[in-house]
Amino acid sequence: MTAFSGESDWARWRDEFHLPPGQIYLDGNSLGLLNQRSEAAVLKVLAQWSAQGIAGWSESGWIDMAERAAMRLAPLAGASAASVCATAQTTVNLHQLLATLFDPALPHKRVIVADELNFASDAHALASHLQLRGLDPRTHLRWIRSRDGFTLRTEDIVAALTDDVQMLVLPSVLYVSGQWLDLPTINATARARGIIVGWDLSHSIGIVPHALEAEGADFAFWCNYKYLSAGPGAIGGLYWHPRHHQKKPGLAGWWGVDPAVRFDLESRHEPAPGASRLQIGTPAILSLAPLLGSLEMFAEAGGITAVRRRSLELTGHLIDRAENELARFGISIVTPRAENDRGGHVALCHPEAGRICTALRAVGVVPDYRKPAVLRLAPVPFYTTRAEIDQAVDRLTKIMQTGDYRAWPDPISATP
Ligand SMILES: *Cc1c(COP(=O)(O)O)cnc(C)c1O
Repeated sequence: MTAFSGESDWARWRDEFHLPPGQIYLDGNSLGLLNQRSEAAVLKVLAQWSAQGIAGWSESGWIDMAERAAMRLAPLAGASAASVCATAQTTVNLHQLLATLFDPALPHKRVIVADELNFASDAHALASHLQLRGLDPRTHLRWIRSRDGFTLRTEDIVAALTDDVQMLVLPSVLYVSGQWLDLPTINATARARGIIVGWDLSHSIGIVPHALEAEGADFAFWCNYKYLSAGPGAIGGLYWHPRHHQKKPGLAGWWGVDPAVRFDLESRHEPAPGASRLQIGTPAILSLAPLLGSLEMFAEAGGITAVRRRSLELTGHLIDRAENELARFGISIVTPRAENDRGGHVALCHPEAGRICTALRAVGVVPDYRKPAVLRLAPVPFYTTRAEIDQAVDRLTKIMQTGDYRAWPDPISATP
C-alpha cells in the first residue's frame, strides 16, 4: 500500500476524463486527454458567444481570461503571475522572446547555444531569428552534443558557455529520452557568466516542479496541450523574469498595450505591465477555456507537488517492470533512473520500436514512437493507473515473446 497510497485518491480524477474506450492511453506527453472541466468550459464559452455576441468580452470576462490563466499557470512555472502569460504557441513565444531579448549589436557576444537533441521547431526558430538579425546560424548558433544520443551532461552544457555566448536555450525535459536537466545549476552558471538563459518547458510543465523566477532564469515558453490537457494546438505559455519587465516587446501588437489605453487604438505603443506586454493579438478564447478547466483540476488535486509524487509512483513502477522483464528482449531504458534526472515519461529503445508501437496499438495500448528506435510511454497522474501499466507491460512482453511485432509496418510519426 505504501508505494501506491495515491491510487484511490486519483480515481476520482480519472472519472473526469474521456478515456478512449478499450485503450490504455500512454501518450499524454504528446496530447493530453480531454477532461470534463475543459469540455464544460468550452461549451460555456460557446453558450456565451451565442447569447451575448460581442458583449461576451465584458459580460463573460473574456477580456482578462488570459490573465486568469496566467495566474494559475504561474505556480507550475515557479513564477509570479506578472511574469507569466498564456498566449500564442510554443514556437511563436520563442520568437517573441528572442525578438525581445536577443541583442545582435552586442560586440563579441552574439552566439546562441542550444542542444542537438531538442525539438526541431526550436532550432528552426533560433536559426531564422539569427538570419533575421543579419547573423549566420553556421557561426552564431552553437550546438551542445550528446555523448550517447539521448542525454546531455551538465558539464558539457557548462563548457559551452564561453565568453562569446549571449544566450542559452534548452529543453527542461528532453522530449525523446525524458531526461530532466539540472535547471538550478545551469541557471546559476549562465547567470554568473552574464548569459541569458531560456527554457522550453513543453515536456515539463504540469509534470515536474519549477522554480524559474527564484533560480533567475530569464525566460521560458511551452505548449499546454501535453500534460496540461488543454486540447490539440492549445494556446501556449511563456515566462519572463521581472528584471526584463521594463523592456519593450520585440514583436508588438495591440494586445500587448496597457489595457487602460488598449482600446484607444493609438499608434503610440504603451506596453501593458509585466509579461502580458508580450501578447500580440486577441487571445484565443476558445482555446483558453479548456486550459482554465484543466488548471482548476491541478489546483484542486494539490498542485504540482502532488502530481509529481503520483507521476513518480507510476513511472517508478514502469521502470522497475521494464528493467526486470523487458531487457531480455533487447529493450533498454534510455531515461535516466534517478528521480531528479527524469520527467514524466519513460523512453524505451529497441531497433524495431516502430513495429513494436504498431503492434501495441493493435492490442489497445497507445504509446508514442520517435524515429528511429524509441518508444515513449507517459503515464499521466490524473488518469493512468498502476493496473494499466501492468497490463501494458504484460502486452508488450507477449508481443516480444511471440515476435508478433515483425508482422506490422513501421508507423509514421507525425505528432508534436
Ligand atoms: C511539443 C513541443 C513543441 C511544440 O511547439 P508548437 O509551437 O506548439 O507546435 C515545441 N518544443 C518542444 C520541446 C515540444 O515538445
